[in-house]
Amino acid sequence: MAEQVLAAVRTGPVKTEIREYPMPGIPEDGALMKMEVAGICGTDVKLYQHPPSAARVIMGHENIGTIAKAGREFTRRKGFKEGDLVFVEHYVACGKCEWCHLGQYRHCENTDWRNNPDSIRYGYTSAERAPHLWGGFAQYVFLPWNAVVHRVPQGVTPELAGLVTPMANGVEWSLFEGGVGYNSTVLIQGPGQQGLSQTVICKQAGASLIIVTGTAKDGARMEVAKALGADHVIDVSQEDPLSRIMEITGGKGVDVALDCTAGAGTGPILLGIDALKRKAGTIVVQGESEKFPDFPLAKVTTKYITIKSARGHSYKACELALAQLASHRFPLERVTTHRFGLKDVDLAIRSVGGKGVKDVIHASLMPWQ
Ligand SMILES: [Zn+2]
Ligand SMILES: [Zn+2]
Repeated sequence: MAEQVLAAVRTGPVKTEIREYPMPGIPEDGALMKMEVAGICGTDVKLYQHPPSAARVIMGHENIGTIAKAGREFTRRKGFKEGDLVFVEHYVACGKCEWCHLGQYRHCENTDWRNNPDSIRYGYTSAERAPHLWGGFAQYVFLPWNAVVHRVPQGVTPELAGLVTPMANGVEWSLFEGGVGYNSTVLIQGPGQQGLSQTVICKQAGASLIIVTGTAKDGARMEVAKALGADHVIDVSQEDPLSRIMEITGGKGVDVALDCTAGAGTGPILLGIDALKRKAGTIVVQGESEKFPDFPLAKVTTKYITIKSARGHSYKACELALAQLASHRFPLERVTTHRFGLKDVDLAIRSVGGKGVKDVIHASLMPWQ
């Protein structure tokens, strides 16, 4: 095995450099993963433009790879051995708290980068911290005893497995938070990889009506949305979305509204609230605007609306997402549109953000290319 590991390191806002790190020694209870694919999502776009700290960071938090080296204790405790193709959640959990015991590693303090300066999370943690390999935009990633590892089912390629994170979010947000199921009517705002993943999951769960919204630049994505099961797509820059939704639903509105937009301000929340049915709809939100002037609280209250927060995914959502990928039931090759090599991390992230290569839906970063 090589002595040095190549990594793309974020050194500042919209700045990447290729660096070498020493190949780490592996403790008995740890492992080393050879990277196959790091998925790039809207969160990378945000973190790249506005890094949460000045630290050098190897980004990449949606990581698929092969176990290259595993300590004996790692294999004994976790069941993974060298050669296994795995998906590693970006949450590095404490393994002891209530959230961890629930499989809700996303809420564990050990991985809470907003509140805990010592937290560990792939794609977020400083590369200064030994053994440095805390992100997927590198040839190898270090797995400590408390990494959360899932087996990739047979027949699922690494590139397809690279969709597991948006798919797991799809399960978590639409099914577990939104309660989408048989005969549900759903509004999905935003036709990016996240909105498209929600479309697949809602379709599989039995939703009877799926409406996906986008803007004029989303033509290609809207076509993919239809191929994946959307019943209607609405270009909000051409049509009034609320009147279209009411027309489609015969004036009833939808059961569940999911916000999968990025940088669209408060508009999608307002539309979601208006598009929900007369009583007891659910809106799943993920925006992080500090302020919301004129928030229509009266509408929320009188319509008896439930607001849920989208925050990543649970262990169970990941397993269901992997099973979804293994079913090959949907033409997901229409979502995994582009591949980039390690030297093109900057271009890859910008492209996912709509400023680089055109019509990228899901970008697979392949660190060995
Ligand atoms: Zn992500
Ligand atoms: Zn914990």
